[in-house]
Amino acid sequence: MNKIDRFVIPAPEPVVLPVAGSDLAFPVRRVYCVGRNYVAHIREMGGDEARDPPVFFQKPADSIVHDGATIPYPSLSQNYHHELELVVALKSGGSDIPAAEALDHIYGYGIGLDMTRRDLQKRLSDAGLPWEDSKSFDHSCPCGPIHPVEDVGHIAAGAIRLTVNGEARQDSDVSLLIWKIPEIIANLSQAYELFPGDIILTGTPHGVGPVQPGDVLVGTIDKLGSLTVRIGDRL
Ligand code: MN
Repeated sequence: MNKIDRFVIPAPEPVVLPVAGSDLAFPVRRVYCVGRNYVAHIREMGGDEARDPPVFFQKPADSIVHDGATIPYPSLSQNYHHELELVVALKSGGSDIPAAEALDHIYGYGIGLDMTRRDLQKRLSDAGLPWEDSKSFDHSCPCGPIHPVEDVGHIAAGAIRLTVNGEARQDSDVSLLIWKIPEIIANLSQAYELFPGDIILTGTPHGVGPVQPGDVLVGTIDKLGSLTVRIGDRL
């Protein structure tokens, strides 16, 4: 097969995340997200806390922005929220991956923010409509460097915290995930064939809340360093 290397319009740049402690990059294929995965967050959103099957959605890979970025306050929202999440980066994939084998597919871990137009999410879900526009917009996925498993091991516990302008907003522990990482990968691979380069945002703990232009968000997860993002002017 001839490789096509001449395009009629400029080809998009590949989306990559830096690898911590290296000058190499992790290429991103898809960004999957898990909804409703910490009990205290389900409660603060007014839901019940039954262990329902995990809810998945996607953000476009090019919604990723890197550590240190300034991201605009998005259009179509007056209630723009942070959701700090543990990120899992896959080095291999498959369908119907057994939970017992799932960790073998992980390249590393990072810190991500599932930025959300909360008012739009409520309006859309109240109307029974898909809430894609509240989750999958431009700049909605700040993501820090990926830390290889060979450096940090597997992350099943540890503090996950977010400050806004130095004030504590989210403070929980990764051990409180309802669906653990092997279960997330097993469930997700029943719905989609997974591939190297797929990343998964594993759900937010409680303490989500609004941000304003000029705010500085700093997320930390034990062993994974920090992710800093500044909120810029309104679009
Ligand atoms: Mn989320």
